[in-house]
Formats: sequence, C-alpha cells, structure tokens
Amino acid sequence: MVPQKTPKIPYTLPKAEMHTHISLALSNEAFIRRVKKKRTDLSLDFLVDRETRYYPDLTKFHGTYESMRHMTNTQQELADTVQGYLERIAREGAIYAEISNSYREGSDFEWQMDAISAGIEAARHNTGIETRIVVTTLRNHGAAKAEAAAQFLSTYKNPYVTGFGLVGDEGVNQFMEFSKALNIAWHEAGLGISPHVAEQHLHNAVDFLEVIPQDALKNHHRDMRRLRIGHGVLIHLSSDLMKEFADKQICMEICLSANKRIGLPEATKIHQIGEKITSQNGNRSITIDRPLTNYYESVSNHPIKSFIDAGIPVCLGSDNPLLMNTNIGKEYSLINQAGVTNMSDHLQLTRNAILYANVDPLTRSRLLSHIDTYESQVKSSDTLPLETTLGYKKAFMD
Ligand SMILES: [Zn+2]
Repeated sequence: MVPQKTPKIPYTLPKAEMHTHISLALSNEAFIRRVKKKRTDLSLDFLVDRETRYYPDLTKFHGTYESMRHMTNTQQELADTVQGYLERIAREGAIYAEISNSYREGSDFEWQMDAISAGIEAARHNTGIETRIVVTTLRNHGAAKAEAAAQFLSTYKNPYVTGFGLVGDEGVNQFMEFSKALNIAWHEAGLGISPHVAEQHLHNAVDFLEVIPQDALKNHHRDMRRLRIGHGVLIHLSSDLMKEFADKQICMEICLSANKRIGLPEATKIHQIGEKITSQNGNRSITIDRPLTNYYESVSNHPIKSFIDAGIPVCLGSDNPLLMNTNIGKEYSLINQAGVTNMSDHLQLTRNAILYANVDPLTRSRLLSHIDTYESQVKSSDTLPLETTLGYKKAFMD
C-alpha cells in the first residue's frame, strides 16, 4: 500500500515568500557546480546526508553560512541566483517575494543592489512575480553601523528597496540599542521595518514592543511601508506577548524549516513558567505562562496554529532555502503538518503577506486580486485551477 503522506498544497495556490536571505538561495544544481569548482569547502554530501542541513545551534549554522559566503561573488552570479530563485518559486505559485540582502559600506552595496534588481526584473518579465528588497544590517556589528546603514538608505534610490531589517545573533547587543536605526529607517528613509525578533531569545520581543515607531502600527492604505517581525516564534511562551501582538496586529514571518533545523540556546531552553521578563528600559514586563513546545523536533509541535487562532497575522518564509533544504512551496505544505489544514487559512497566509508587504497601493490591490481570483475559481468549481494565477501550467497536477 502506498504510504499516506501529508497532503501537499497545490502549486496553483497563490503564495508569498516573505523572509529569505537571497545571496545564498542557490539551486542544488548551482551548488553542485560551485562544489566542483572548489568554491566552498562543503562537499556534495551536504545535499544528500540528512543531518548536514540540521544545525544544533546558531554557531554551527553561521559556520555553514560562512563556508558558502563566496559562492555568489560576482554581479552575474548574484543576479542569476536572484532570478533563478524567483522563477523557481513563481513555478510553485508565488506571486510576491520580499528578499533580503545585507548592507555593505562602499561600492559593493551598489553593485549588489544593481545585480539583485536585474534578477528581479528578469524574473518578473518571465513569470510575473513581483519582488521587493529588505536591506538588513548585522546586529553583531553594533548600533552605530545600523544607524549609518539606515542613514545611507535615506538618500539611496532604488525602487525595489522598500524595507529595512536587522539580522544576526540575537544574544549580542541589546535590541533597544537599535531603536535609533529602526526609527531612521522608518521616518527618514521611508522604509518598512522587519527585524529578526525572538527567533532565539525571547527578551527581544519585549524590547521590540518598546522601540517600534508608533505610527508603524497603523497600516494606512496609502502608505507603502509596513511593520513585520522576522520569526517571533518564541512569543508562544507568553500569553501577554500573544495578546500584545494580536492587539497591535503585528505580522510575523514564520519560517517552519528554520525553526525545526536550528537548535535553541540553553538560555531559552531553561525559561520557567512564572518567570518575568522586563524590557531593558524597565517599562514593560511579561510573564512566561506556557511551556516551550519542541517544534525544533517536529513541525507538528509548531505554535503557528496558536498564533493564527489568537488572531495574529502570520505569513511564511523559507529563510535560507539551500541551507534548510526548503522552498516556499514546501513551507506552505509544512503548515498542514503543523495543523493548519484548511484552504482559507492557507490563502490567509498569502493575504497577510500582501497586506503587510512594502508595496505601493496599486501593486497591493493587484496582488490581492490574484488571491480573490483563485478563491472564487475554487469555490465555483469542483476542480482546482490548472495553472497558477500568473499563468504557469504543469503537465500533471500534484
Ligand atoms: Zn532570517
């Protein structure tokens, strides 16, 4: 008998990729070519040994990331990586993506942004997928560098750069130190903001609530900027935080594979029920009243359904597709395993993504109409559409 697998989500369902670090989003084929040319010290085993793409902690993950750093060294390689990834996810049904790349001082930043923009335009020409860029700064480099990056972006002009993010080790440099950088990004550079928060350390979520620009919570129709957080998964430990995120309608970019494949630090594993966490400025305090679910061992324990049930807007991201052995189609299918099984919830993930995307009002309404079209097609017919809303067709339905 054929074993029952978790049902896949149809490739035709409109999807959005809201969290991916693009420079290493290489296909397996491109990775193999780089290994053969000795562009990395990783071997082909990386693709086939199951354990190689699981990371006991963030240090191990960053080590692997470093081993790959020189795999996209030139403008052409970066543009090809961007185009290849976007076209791949468009075939999986993606209508929109926000991709991130880190800020660099000097001329490297400009050629990288030009390459990424060229990749975006080529992919849009070939598939119709719409894409924007989130420029990130590395938390490990400190607040002054983050402020300099945000300041630079206030004069930098690139129509695809619409967001600003904060990445790196959440255990170093207090989140509140980045308040000024986030405010410069929002107020002066006119960018949406989406920092990594509470992926590995819960106290960041408490500090985050203290530093967000208040008008970033309003989601004006005519304002293209939005506030989201990268990950946020650890807020499931506290009803206080869950309520706050629901009340403020803060959108979370959930990355199921990343959560499953990267272990948590000891400091997070030893949190106790009843423990209080206070923000660095002493103004806000939350209580831990829920146990840590072991979503890092099984996606079926992931709290994504509790976020949805609490009314928190959630969207999906694949984070690091090559390093996590995933893609956005797979991330959508994984939510079935996490207990989110009905189509209206699946579509809501894409709706949330578009409602919280850093795009102009016209693009937002055009993208939302793709979702409405799919939903009405499915409701008015017994069979699923045979092609994606952007017109990609497969010979056989999966
Ligand atoms: Zn990330």
